Amino acid sequence: MNFIDVEPTLENYWRAIILFGKNTASYKFALAKSLIDISLAKDSDLISLEDLALPYAMHLCEHLKHNPKQSTFKSGKFINACYDFNNQAIGQDELMHITTKEGFKYVLDAFHVVNTKAVNERFFDVIDEQFFIDERKYNKGIRLTDNLFKLFYVFDNSADNLNQETESRWNLVEKAWALNMNKNLLSVEYDNATKQLFTQDTNHRRTDITCSRGALNGYQKSRCFYCFTPISIASYHSMLADVDHFFPHTLKPQVANAGCCRPVNVDGVWNLVLSCTDCNRGENGKFAQVPAPQLLQRLHTRNEYLINSHHPLRETLIMQTGKNERSRQYFLQKSFKFSKEHLLHIWQPMPKASQLF
Ligand SMILES: [Zn+2]
Repeated sequence: MNFIDVEPTLENYWRAIILFGKNTASYKFALAKSLIDISLAKDSDLISLEDLALPYAMHLCEHLKHNPKQSTFKSGKFINACYDFNNQAIGQDELMHITTKEGFKYVLDAFHVVNTKAVNERFFDVIDEQFFIDERKYNKGIRLTDNLFKLFYVFDNSADNLNQETESRWNLVEKAWALNMNKNLLSVEYDNATKQLFTQDTNHRRTDITCSRGALNGYQKSRCFYCFTPISIASYHSMLADVDHFFPHTLKPQVANAGCCRPVNVDGVWNLVLSCTDCNRGENGKFAQVPAPQLLQRLHTRNEYLINSHHPLRETLIMQTGKNERSRQYFLQKSFKFSKEHLLHIWQPMPKASQLF
């Protein structure tokens, strides 16, 4: 069964819109982020396109400064206006005017459309919740629904987590486009010190991609990978998740010494999960033990899900673990064998909530 079936909540519906499915432009992320801004400062549920235009355009302007490629097609009047604003060729008023006229053409229609083939069709048959209603015809704007307010007011912690996940997804997507010239560059790894995912080009030049917690939480939905206890990815939160190496990080020097039969690249994104601090380093925590085979199956399911849902890390995962499911299974089995031979002890925690993935 697909994990997304288990918890059909508003939060997960939002995730399905933002975090899964193919992307051809980043406007959806900018709209999502401006909806979060607006719902937090709610005055009225009717938002004119003019009022939405600036927060929406500003998110795109901000991203354009670092990543000029924001879509897979030729940029039009709206993106050009964002460029002009960044270069101080036009002011705020003109940016707002052009955005209102040109910036919402596709994104409002496309926002609630998800790629039902790539995700799980049943999920989308059951839940048909929308976060705004398109009222451009009668009111020149959109009407925010209760869903949006519920999502960001009722659920503790939601806004921070979802905001960070949206940002991480955006960073991953634009990085994937930027590196499209050479897919081999997409060797995303984890830096223990900065908690960032980064990539290296052939000259070993490093580029930070995004915060690893935000990138991993979309699948785990704020639950510990091992015991399903609630976790957070907001840096100030008491339940802040640890970024955990499934096959322990202590294997790294042993992997380097293993020579020809070197099976495990432990810093690869395929090996990273979010865990509660108890599981990672609590009294009965994992430390340098090897997760039980049942947990290995869970990791395999996670990686296959990300690959099949066209996650931006798809190419990375394929490169790190294998071209088809069978070879990836073999890779994990080989890594398990290597880890157990070196670390000896198997670890499995007691579940603290029902199994969600
Ligand atoms: Zn845990």
